[in-house]
Amino acid sequence: MRDGAHGASGPERIPGRAHGPAETGDRARDGRAGGTVNGHLTILYRGPLASCDYDCPYCPFAKRRDGTAELRADRAALERFTDWVAAQEHPVSVLFTPWGEGLVRSWYRRAMVRLSHLPHVSRVAIQTNMSTRTGWLADADLDTLALWVTYHPGQVSAERFLARCGELLELGVRFSVGVVGLPEHLEAARRLRAALPRQVYLWVNAAEGHVYTDAEAAAWTAIDPLFGYSRRPHASAGLACRTGDSVISVDGDGEVRRCHFVPTRLGNIYDGSFRAALRPRPCPAATCDCHIGYVHLEPLGLYDVFRRGVLERIPHDWPFTHPPHAPSGALRR
Ligand code: SF4
Ligand code: SF4
Repeated sequence: MRDGAHGASGPERIPGRAHGPAETGDRARDGRAGGTVNGHLTILYRGPLASCDYDCPYCPFAKRRDGTAELRADRAALERFTDWVAAQEHPVSVLFTPWGEGLVRSWYRRAMVRLSHLPHVSRVAIQTNMSTRTGWLADADLDTLALWVTYHPGQVSAERFLARCGELLELGVRFSVGVVGLPEHLEAARRLRAALPRQVYLWVNAAEGHVYTDAEAAAWTAIDPLFGYSRRPHASAGLACRTGDSVISVDGDGEVRRCHFVPTRLGNIYDGSFRAALRPRPCPAATCDCHIGYVHLEPLGLYDVFRRGVLERIPHDWPFTHPPHAPSGALRR
């Protein structure tokens, strides 16, 4: 799948909270802090964790069994990152995009809870298979915490997954659910859509390397009206993308890149060197095919579609009465 490890309308604005990515969409330059827009910085964090309790055949990562030393290093890196976020004086939003499953590790749950209570943190979200229990969420500020949940039909029964979604709804957790758009997932995705309350948005990610006929795309679009954005990679080279300006990717050492897909180093968060590098810049890659990347691609206009749900992938006015016009294919130059 293309969107990292895992593949309800919430509050529109939280009194006293820093504004999230949606409020940066006007590109106003007032109050810039170190290249951020209105001082707000969105961070995609991926530490060294690379293990998962699931074994999806389509998993994009070279999964491994993390030993004690690797887990200790991942925990130390995450705690250092969390301390850094806590010490910032400008608004921050964080999406954890682990190369594995984070929430089965206590330190990810603790980081989510801690960040959710910080007044300058607008959003903290994580990509997860949601195999873990939900009790810990009761300690979080659920106006700030959100989940990007992926359903993996071969790894968990529909009943068990739906029960977990029911727990999230009961707790009042803001979350999206999604599936990888493999042909063998279509019936499971249809059943999931039918079983979930309408207020839960179900996204579909185009499967890596899969070419969709119009009929196949129509079947997936009936489940996710925004499937057209995922169907084909976007020809992003030279187009304006918010990454490297108000959005950055950070690894376990604090190393900063504009996004997970462009390897050029921009500096480090722990010595502050990244701030001087933040500025608007065009995409240097030929294509962008991950939601966690192309959602920041300005010509697509997805900040208007998702607004405060950019990171957890929940459209602003879901369930749609008038769906936005999703492209039938990719953004082309
Ligand atoms: S749940 Fe685990 S195995 Fe499946 S895609 Fe995500 S990281 Fe890979
Ligand atoms: S369009 Fe995608 S690949 Fe290009 S800079 Fe933005 S996130 Fe990175």
